[in-house]
Order: sequence, then structure tokens, then C-alpha cells
Amino acid sequence: MDNCIFCRIASGEAQARILFADDEVVAFHDLHPQAPVHVLIVPRRHVASLAHATPDDAPLLGRLCLAAAEAARRTGIAESGFRVVVNSGAGAGQSVFHVHLHVLGGRPVGWPPG
Ligand code: AMP
Repeated sequence: MDNCIFCRIASGEAQARILFADDEVVAFHDLHPQAPVHVLIVPRRHVASLAHATPDDAPLLGRLCLAAAEAARRTGIAESGFRVVVNSGAGAGQSVFHVHLHVLGGRPVGWPPG
């Protein structure tokens, strides 16, 4: 989608601090980090939110989860622990309507989440 910032980052049209990328997934640092490590995992293909995902998207969603673990390894938080968050819908705090996983770590994270 032309006006989607995460589509534009995935295509290279918009800049981001890319951690890694492959044929389906791009991992980059969040512009406004909420923890010492805050990486976003996005699919190259536009899916508006988790609520818009279909059974056909199951392999892609699996790739996103594996990429989150890879991001944790590459940023050194795999052993200390990390949290993966998906906000789905404005009421849950989603502000960019291109599905993405937040990978957060490098500090203690409380439970329950706010
Ligand atoms: P959410 O509120 O769950 O939709 O998360 C969107 C996230 O995208 C927020 O944490 C923003 O800080 C982040 N964000 C928005 N625009 C950019 C950008 N151009 N580069 C990196 N992160 C961004």
C-alpha cells in the first residue's frame, strides 16, 4: 500500500534502522523505543492487523514469530528474556495498520501489561 509507512520501509522507499530482512520479513528498530531494545517485525506483504489475518497467513505469522526470536538473539536479549507484543486495533493501541510484532527487552518488563 502506497501510503503505509511499513510497506515503504519494507520496500526501501522509507528509511529505518534495519536489523535484518529476508524475502518475507523485515526487522528494524522502533523510532520511539519503549525499552533498551525495541525492534519491530513486519511482513513485506501488507496485512492490516492480526484481526485481518486469515488461515492463509498462518505460515507468514509463523515467520514473524521466528523472526522475533532471531531479533532477540541478534540484539543480545534472548537469554535475559524478551516480550513480544502485537497491538490489534486502535483500542489496543495499534497506530500503524500493517501487522507487526514488537520485540522488547533489555530491562525488566512487568506483568500484567498495562
Ligand atoms: P503500534 O502502536 O502497535 O501500531 O506500533 C507502531 C510502532 O511503530 C510504534 O512503536 C512507533 O514508534 C513505530 N513507528 C512508527 N513509525 C515508524 C518509523 N518510521 N520507523 C520506525 N518505527 C516507527
